[in-house]
Amino acid sequence: MAKLFRAAIMGPPGSGKGTISERIAQSFGLQYLSSGHFLREAIAANTEAGVLVKSYVERSVLVPDPVMTTLMLPRLEQLSNHSWLLDGFPRTLAQAQALDSICQLDLVISLNIPYETLKERLSDRWIHPASGRVYNMGFNPPRVQGRDDISGEPLIQHDDDKPEALMARLRHYKDVAKPVIDLYKSQGILHSFSGTETDRIWPYISSLLSSKISTQPSNTCQTPTH
Ligand code: ATP
Ligand code: MG
Repeated sequence: MAKLFRAAIMGPPGSGKGTISERIAQSFGLQYLSSGHFLREAIAANTEAGVLVKSYVERSVLVPDPVMTTLMLPRLEQLSNHSWLLDGFPRTLAQAQALDSICQLDLVISLNIPYETLKERLSDRWIHPASGRVYNMGFNPPRVQGRDDISGEPLIQHDDDKPEALMARLRHYKDVAKPVIDLYKSQGILHSFSGTETDRIWPYISSLLSSKISTQPSNTCQTPTH
């Protein structure tokens, strides 16, 4: 039987985490678990947790740690026989400690992307609010400037993606992530990757994972007691 492998990926907004996670999940057969995805799912299904988290997610404010761990840990416990990749969780030291208490990660990937690159990517992002379609003025522009390709309606920019807000958002990410990164560094499982292009970083991540997944004995997660 293949050994189990548990990894997490961390990186600031605009770091290409989503793209890299998809590639990892596909290439290495890890189940992809995104906290943002679980939260949006709970909100859409109007569950108790969904009602609780809605206002935070809508404002892009961090959901309180106890709510987050209550949402995430049971799912991970259910996956005790699977290999997985976590994206967006843990985001704070308290979340990392809660995760640590049920499961030892094998590897954490941290993406270090220069501030200028993040700023360029994020400030170029425009959306069509009704459909959620996203355009990037640099590499995926709409056919007609400022208009959605399908409806022709005007595109808007999230307040969050406006240059004024970006600096604060990125600084906040750094402050919150620092103790989490330090924890994983002290456990010897942190691997940092720097660069300005996802396609250039990917081969390094891919070869690291190839070596780890084939050779490393896996840590275990507690199995559910019920
Ligand atoms: P990125 O741009 O890197 O994807 P994001 O914050 O815009 O980051 P998601 O990761 O999809 O997007 O998360 C959406 C929202 O869900 C966040 O703004 C936050 O409100 C909430 N959230 C997601 N993960 C967590 C977490 N681990 N702890 C607290 N809140 C979270
Ligand atoms: Mg996201």
